[in-house]
Amino acid sequence: MSENKEPPETCLGEDRIRVKPQIRYLGIILDGRLSFKPHVDYLRGKVERNVSYLSRILPNLFGPGYRVRKLYSAVINAMVMYGAPVWAKYIGKKGLATLITVQRPIALRVARAYRTTPTDMLFAIAGMVSYKWQAAAWYRIYRETKDIREAGEALTVQCKDNVRNRQFSIAMDRWKEQLKKCNIRGRPFMRAIINNWEAWVTTGPANLTYRITQLMSGHGCFASYLKRIGARRNDRCIECMEVRDSAIHTVFVCKAFDRQKDELEVAMGERLSINSIVKAVADGKRKCKAVQKFAKDVMQEKEENDREDERNDRIRQNRKWRRKKARKREEKKLWTKMMDDTYEMEEE
Ligand SMILES: [Zn+2]
Repeated sequence: MSENKEPPETCLGEDRIRVKPQIRYLGIILDGRLSFKPHVDYLRGKVERNVSYLSRILPNLFGPGYRVRKLYSAVINAMVMYGAPVWAKYIGKKGLATLITVQRPIALRVARAYRTTPTDMLFAIAGMVSYKWQAAAWYRIYRETKDIREAGEALTVQCKDNVRNRQFSIAMDRWKEQLKKCNIRGRPFMRAIINNWEAWVTTGPANLTYRITQLMSGHGCFASYLKRIGARRNDRCIECMEVRDSAIHTVFVCKAFDRQKDELEVAMGERLSINSIVKAVADGKRKCKAVQKFAKDVMQEKEENDREDERNDRIRQNRKWRRKKARKREEKKLWTKMMDDTYEMEEE
């Protein structure tokens, strides 16, 4: 066996033609085995670079509203879905897993969620269909329109729209079924969102605020969450000094927020439940405004109480200092990586 690992060459007259493992054709990277792994890797790099820039202009607490966030996510979407009818069928489980990794940071920007939010819950809150099902829909749209054309039938704009709407509706249903199979124990808001899926994806995410996402994901200023990420020593509620503090405890049990709960019940005109809150947010009208105000008032008060608790607790202060130092180290690493990317782009 030859030890030479150089790619084989052939000659055409005086021109030397080198055989390459992959080629780029019309924006899609084709490889010898048609695994489309190089294309998925290329997409990953491209999207990660763009999302890291977007993250700086789309902070969770302030920054543009849902329409702008959705527009940016649609741009990235179009970037990823380019050529999907060609590669969707061949990328395999690994490729699909990579696509989910790519989509996650975009969903975080749309839903204004913490980085610790589990992926399935994040996609449910953001009302986003996974790239897997979107790619499958584009593949079927291509097949169906091709069949119509080959059958000699007229492919009108109306006909194309019908095919597209039907296939995206199928993708949405399949994604819903997949979300149902995820672990929704202990995630009551996610269950309620899936139960009201059609209403939620139509208008729900547009009415999300940073505070509502915190309540729905349980990833916010709740003692059980803070304990889990090592920011607090116990999970006791500092407002009522009872039981385990969580989003459910805050909304339905905690005595400290009885006034806000009563106001919300009056505004909603019905008894407070997880389902009624999800429906109110999806509804987007007066009831939604009441939920937004409730979430803001309650979460701001909880954060203020938490800061007060921290000021009185030397051990927590030290922990916070250590976390801040770790975060700065991470930011410095990211910044160095971004600078490297910029130089690479300039060289290109
Ligand atoms: Zn409490």
